[in-house]
This record gives sequence, C-alpha cells and structure tokens, in this order.
Amino acid sequence: MRKYTKIEENTLLEVRCNKCGRNLLVENGFLKEGCFHGENVFGYFSTRDGSKHSWDLCEECYDKLVQEFLIPVEETESNEYL
Ligand SMILES: [Zn+2]
Repeated sequence: MRKYTKIEENTLLEVRCNKCGRNLLVENGFLKEGCFHGENVFGYFSTRDGSKHSWDLCEECYDKLVQEFLIPVEETESNEYL
C-alpha cells in the first residue's frame, strides 16, 4: 500500500506491507528497503473485469509467500534496479 503527495510531483510518502502492516523505510521520497510491488489490471475474461489491484509486501512476507509455491520463483540476474 503506497501513499503519495497530492501535489504534482507525486512524491512517495509511505509504503506499508499489505500482509503484516509494517511501515517500510521511506526517505526523501525513496523506498530504502526491499519490497515486492504487485500490480495487475484484471481483464475482460476475469471475474474482476477491469478492476486494478496493487499491493506491497516486505521481504519477510514475500519470502513466506513464495515458500508456499509448488513451483519455485523464476530467478534471473538484472542490471536494472532501484
Ligand atoms: Zn510484511
């Protein structure tokens, strides 16, 4: 869950883990710790037709979630990260 300023800069003010509710470290508009951000617009063939969902997980909650997966997360190296 993310909160931004309402001014046109759209500066990040707060990020909370949707699962545990913990406030993640945000300084000067930048998220300063690991976080999974999920976002999806459900399409025409879904039961949520046109609904957009977004959520954030702290790394601890992310680890707990993916440990429950039957098929492991696909992991590759990336040179582009914030
Ligand atoms: Zn959490």
